[in-house]
Amino acid sequence: MTLTGKTAIITGSNSGIGLGIARELAKAGADVVLNSFSDNDEDHAIAKEIADETGTNTRYIQADMSKGDQCRALVEKAGACDILINNAGIQHVSGIDEFPTEKWDAIIAINMSSAFHTTAAALPMMRKAGWGRVINIASAHGLTASPYKSAYVAAKHGVVGLTKVTALETAQEPITANAICPGYVMTPLVEAQIPDTMEKYNMDRETAIKEVMLTRQPSKEFATTEQMGGTAVFLCSDAAAQITGTTISVDGGWTAL
Ligand code: NAD
Repeated sequence: MTLTGKTAIITGSNSGIGLGIARELAKAGADVVLNSFSDNDEDHAIAKEIADETGTNTRYIQADMSKGDQCRALVEKAGACDILINNAGIQHVSGIDEFPTEKWDAIIAINMSSAFHTTAAALPMMRKAGWGRVINIASAHGLTASPYKSAYVAAKHGVVGLTKVTALETAQEPITANAICPGYVMTPLVEAQIPDTMEKYNMDRETAIKEVMLTRQPSKEFATTEQMGGTAVFLCSDAAAQITGTTISVDGGWTAL
């Protein structure tokens, strides 16, 4: 399929799943806008590398997804938004009674509220263009819960709810809104959870990965960023034009348990 001529904005895409999705959308022809809160040479170099490899107008725009006005400014600066991938996310692992309020606020802002702001800014552009795809990167934790991840689970359930409302408000237009719900994908965000998990369960690295992190992933394999990208490309295809307001799990069987 070709996404030539389409502009795709991917929040939080200088690493991990967002970068994997950027590579697959650019391979399919989309001009991708990469984003994160940082603004260094490496960020722009990744965008240039993808642009050179794919012949697309892929570029990097800095914006902090914890701030509503910057979320909206990202979309405005991009100038067009046919495909919006709300992917930026952070994690903090702690019991509710010890959960730092500033971590709660940051996770709700970056993982959930940013999707509201970018969607609000992008929908008028999609309506004007007569085509649009909103793809929210939720999580298996948007459908199920785990202890010690209160803010993350709350934010991801919120993202699934926002996805449904976006789909209903655009149901009679050529715009769809869906959420991808990954299980565990090996990225920096997952890597950062390993020390906390080892400490909390008093386990070595290998045991913490197999017995705690992948205990709910029946395949016992991490999903890949390429698989997330492939799922996003599918949701942009004509075959997916009537898929809206739903979740697609890419979780090795997690939510079948
Ligand atoms: P990651 O840490 O590699 O990527 C997170 C991205 O968000 C980075 O590009 C980071 O720079 C960006 N980001 C963080 N704070 C930001 C801010 N304030 N403004 C702009 N960008 C910001 O992690 P990842 O695993 O690739 O996670 C990407 C998304 O996928 C997240 O929403 C995460 O919750 C979700 N997810 C990941 C997994 C997994 O196993 N890795 C599973 C389910 C869902």
